[in-house]
Amino acid sequence: MIKYTLICKCKSTFESWFSSSKEFDVLLSKKLIKCIHCDSSEVKKTVMAPRLTRKSNQIIKKNRFQKNVNKQLVNFKKYIQKNFEDVGERFPQEARSIHYDKKTSKGIYGKATSEETSDLIDEGIDVCTLPWVDDKSQN
Ligand SMILES: [Zn+2]
Repeated sequence: MIKYTLICKCKSTFESWFSSSKEFDVLLSKKLIKCIHCDSSEVKKTVMAPRLTRKSNQIIKKNRFQKNVNKQLVNFKKYIQKNFEDVGERFPQEARSIHYDKKTSKGIYGKATSEETSDLIDEGIDVCTLPWVDDKSQN
């Protein structure tokens, strides 16, 4: 959840909660955000002067870093979804059949427990685990 202070063309400000900044943008573009004072949909986000202490500065840096990491993971996920075949729960079997059948060299992705993964690694099969981020967790 994210709280924005909104300002209306009637100059009044009010606060409202949104599930994400994206949701806010969608609602705003559909003119679904209305001023609580005059019912106008001509509202916008107020730009608040950031108040930073040394501590909050560090938190912001950390969040930014987190955001970047998430973004890269999302991009990576998209890349994998585009270039690899999703085999879902059949991942361990499929990974084995690709490994032992030297002719096949397709890329796959799917689910495996950590136990299954370490079995595959023990067998010399090239697997890697990565955090499967939610595309919507970028906010
Ligand atoms: Zn208003």
